[in-house]
Amino acid sequence: MSGGDAAPTDPVVVALDVGGTGMKCALVRPDGVAVRTERHPTDAARGPAAVAATILDVAEGLADKARADGLTPIAVGIAVPGVVDEARGVAVWSANVGFRDVPLRDLAVRRLGLPTALGHDVRVGGLAEARLGAGRGTGHVLFVAIGTGIAAAHVVDGHAAVGAHGAAGEIGHILVRPDGPRCGCGRPGCLEAVASAAAVGRRYAELAGEAADAPVSAAEVAERAATGEPLASQVWQETVEALADGLASGQALFDVATIVLGGGLAQAGDLLLTPLRAALHERMTFHREPQLVAAALGDEAGCLGAALLAMDAVRGHDHQEKR
Ligand SMILES: [Zn+2]
Repeated sequence: MSGGDAAPTDPVVVALDVGGTGMKCALVRPDGVAVRTERHPTDAARGPAAVAATILDVAEGLADKARADGLTPIAVGIAVPGVVDEARGVAVWSANVGFRDVPLRDLAVRRLGLPTALGHDVRVGGLAEARLGAGRGTGHVLFVAIGTGIAAAHVVDGHAAVGAHGAAGEIGHILVRPDGPRCGCGRPGCLEAVASAAAVGRRYAELAGEAADAPVSAAEVAERAATGEPLASQVWQETVEALADGLASGQALFDVATIVLGGGLAQAGDLLLTPLRAALHERMTFHREPQLVAAALGDEAGCLGAALLAMDAVRGHDHQEKR
């Protein structure tokens, strides 16, 4: 670096967390505090090219607003769902946004002229929970997001494993019930086919049959189970057992200090955590039992994680080379 450049006084990064329906966006300071937040619709039905164009527009707009407020945008972090090649900065594949090999990082660099990092939504969410949220202070964290699907991020010393093909952390596709329902991936009995929020609602409706007057959400199943309704109690128990099987496999692989549960199902709080801790405890043989805690950052985690990834990219290379 040349010594002549003035150091930016108030640096921020531009962070975007792109989901199937909406984008959560922010300007984030290096200490992890968001100084401006915005939400924009993704409108995925318009197709991947239009979504990519909106991402660039929103990012550029935020960078302009930062400068107008006397801040210095120093980098861009973008999180997207699906399979993400972080090393090449390519959104390889995404079912709900429609991306197929979109070189988002290079597109953003060209448009904004800022260093840009592209990350996976759950992996950066895990990064944020591990460094700023519920996993803070523990070096080995498994973040598991349980929503429409189930995915995880294994974070060691503040870095999430990406995998050789950008697909690390697909804990939702661990086989837990060989005779179970077919998963969206095509195979029967995957964890997310049994225990995702969507699967819990489906299972309850299936068992209730004629008695079901309206779709019941996973959160409602949890509440009904807590009041002792037999059907809900059965479904919730099945869910907890399947999750415990999946998490026990995760612990066997990763030996983490803390498992952080996020996503919609984790909002059931102690209705989930208390029986799940017990079920996980039963499954520990020689493995050390991890702490099991609820996520602390809510739906901000992805955006904050995208910001962390961007800051890592700027602080960059010497830090990575030490590893
Ligand atoms: Zn599957």
